[in-house]
Amino acid sequence: MSKRDYYEVLGVERTASPDEVKRAYRKLARQYHPDVNKDDSNAEAKFKEISEAYEVLSDSNKRARYDQFGHEDPAAGMGGAGFGGQGAGFGDFGGFGDIFDMFFGGAGGAGQRGPQRGPDLEYELEVDFEDAAFGVEEEIQVPRTETCSTCSGTGAKPGTKTETCSVCHGTGEQQTVVNTPFGRMVNRKTCSACRGRGVRISEPCRDCHGQGRRRVRRTVKIKVPAGVDTGTRLRMPGAGESSPNGGQPGDLHIVIRVRPHDVFEREGTNVYVDVPLTFVQAALGDEIEVPTLDGPVKLRIPEGTQTGTSFRLKGKGVMRLGSTTQRGDQHVRVHVLTPTGLNDRQRELFRELGKELGETTQEQSRTFIERMKSAFLGDA
Ligand SMILES: [Zn+2]
Ligand SMILES: [Zn+2]
Repeated sequence: MSKRDYYEVLGVERTASPDEVKRAYRKLARQYHPDVNKDDSNAEAKFKEISEAYEVLSDSNKRARYDQFGHEDPAAGMGGAGFGGQGAGFGDFGGFGDIFDMFFGGAGGAGQRGPQRGPDLEYELEVDFEDAAFGVEEEIQVPRTETCSTCSGTGAKPGTKTETCSVCHGTGEQQTVVNTPFGRMVNRKTCSACRGRGVRISEPCRDCHGQGRRRVRRTVKIKVPAGVDTGTRLRMPGAGESSPNGGQPGDLHIVIRVRPHDVFEREGTNVYVDVPLTFVQAALGDEIEVPTLDGPVKLRIPEGTQTGTSFRLKGKGVMRLGSTTQRGDQHVRVHVLTPTGLNDRQRELFRELGKELGETTQEQSRTFIERMKSAFLGDA
């Protein structure tokens, strides 16, 4: 059985930094550690595979050799972990999963051939509260790796000679023939000497340093639909990284973050707003102006409104994502402000009012105290 590409095993790019390699390794090692996967026999093989890949990719010398020769390092020999050719037991294959991958070309396995899809990209986009509610068009700059336009991805300086790769004879693939209990199997993988291009370059392209790909900042127009919320993901097919060898580009995932608003709060499609009322407005009732996403609207406050009362403005909320007609509601919570900094005359008026209201307020507090008593002592 031939081994999977080490970069693939760790799920990192060939250009990954030592830090990225370490992070990827730690994450996978935690996931597949045999101690936490006692019931999964595949986990141990997987863990070995991860450790082996990390041993090579974390060592800059070993990694350089691996980049040049792949698993077929002439200096290292065919020393795979316990692969012994004909008659080897199942155990040596790391479980059935791998065997079946070889037969059926399992996704992402060593048997994968032909062009690979480019990796997906993720981008966090901050939008204003109102834009999230009604939708907006945004232009963003996405840094991504693209096929070099100078050399059209060949990696060779335009006009210079290229030679057919001597390792893969121009096919871009390396074949390994292995003997297994099921017979001879041919396994193909991207040629590591020419990285699947099939040619050797005499003079590398200056713009991409012979990589055939380079980093660019690309402007992407995004239509953010009405109703998105923090965490909403939008997928833009084909706007991700380009493929390293002529396959489809990956997708771009936009993750939305809605900026908080000074006045409005939001929960799903409903909008909440807190409005202060004066003592007099609450007692006598009034018509007030309330901010909404559509601009200010009039709201009738009935006589005797208590603090904390909530009024509903139907259909003044946020559009339901994917709809063009269904909107949530706006809830207006009122808070009665107790007057402060009274002058002598105002104090006098309040005292007078208090006397006038005296009976009813005393009545109210008496009932309240009675209720408290019975709550503590029971209705004896
Ligand atoms: Zn180039
Ligand atoms: Zn080659």
